[in-house]
Amino acid sequence: MSDPSKQTDSGQTSDPGIVQTEDESVDQSPINPKKRIIRPWLLFGLLALLVVLLTVRDDLRQNTAKSSENAVRYVAFDMLGWSPRDLFIWRLRVAGLLDSPLGQRWAEAVDRAGEQPVQASGQYSTTETFASDEVEAHIYQVSLERGEKLIWQFSRLDTADSRLYASLERREKNDREWSTVTDLDADELTHSQVISKAGDYRIVLQPELFANAEYSLAMANGGSLPFPVEGATQRDIGSVFGVDRDGGARKHHGVDIFAERGTPVTAVIDGHARTGTSDRGGKHVWLSGSMIGLGSARYYYAHLDAFEVESGDKVKKGEILGYMGNTGNAITTPPHLHFGIYSGGPVDPAPFLKPEPMLPDR
Ligand SMILES: [Zn+2]
Repeated sequence: MSDPSKQTDSGQTSDPGIVQTEDESVDQSPINPKKRIIRPWLLFGLLALLVVLLTVRDDLRQNTAKSSENAVRYVAFDMLGWSPRDLFIWRLRVAGLLDSPLGQRWAEAVDRAGEQPVQASGQYSTTETFASDEVEAHIYQVSLERGEKLIWQFSRLDTADSRLYASLERREKNDREWSTVTDLDADELTHSQVISKAGDYRIVLQPELFANAEYSLAMANGGSLPFPVEGATQRDIGSVFGVDRDGGARKHHGVDIFAERGTPVTAVIDGHARTGTSDRGGKHVWLSGSMIGLGSARYYYAHLDAFEVESGDKVKKGEILGYMGNTGNAITTPPHLHFGIYSGGPVDPAPFLKPEPMLPDR
């Protein structure tokens, strides 16, 4: 039995003029040729700093160990873009430990754990310990689409002074190497990352050598935007992104969300609205962020029965833009909202519209 509502149409040609922006930190490779050149200078600089602290500043002498530690961190993290774990590996090397069996075992622990990571899709929480006599890493992995949001809460439960390295890493589809997205703070706060590149994501935890550590980690993934139709959910999406239109001449560049005529459709971000009428989309609204379309995604609402906003209106997330109908080329179909996202071209809205992530109760 065919359902005419699933064959509806609408849409908009692709929009290559939009500059793509990514809400994500830039990957930093720990070692590259440029950094190798800097290293001798770095060592000399640190040495000079130590000498200055020890000879010139009497009052600082007793704090020298701590100060040089901070200096090392400043140079390594802020100037060279290393992660704390990279710095520890550098220290093992300086101490001649990296080539020892123990050093090798430590350096390869992430690779070993990565062969069988804990699958942490949906909602996940755990409390774990590292014992000082084991050399291991813990890895929690999830596969994510563009537009999803990953949230996490990470805290240290022991009071030891040792370091527990924690980072979020990404491996894009068809990639073999992992790259660091961000380091994790053991601060018990809820952090989030909106996914701009589909792929595998993992949280990697590893204590420094001979360290005890106990931690708790909670994570969850879901959508990054509120649902654009009042009272509707993902289940009301009747026609998905990418299916054929006009006998295969073009693709469906959005999702169709079905609800009663007159149901309010709402803004998914703070921004401003531009209204219009066209043969294909009927009464439609373009919603864009504060940069007037440049540098941010644009959101397209088509087949409306009526507008609640006028062109140029500033709107807040959740505000009503108009009411669902079947104007434009949806005139022979039941009322639905055609919802599109354009950011460097059309993007599948479905992952954006999953329910917002919620950490599990603990
Ligand atoms: Zn559509």
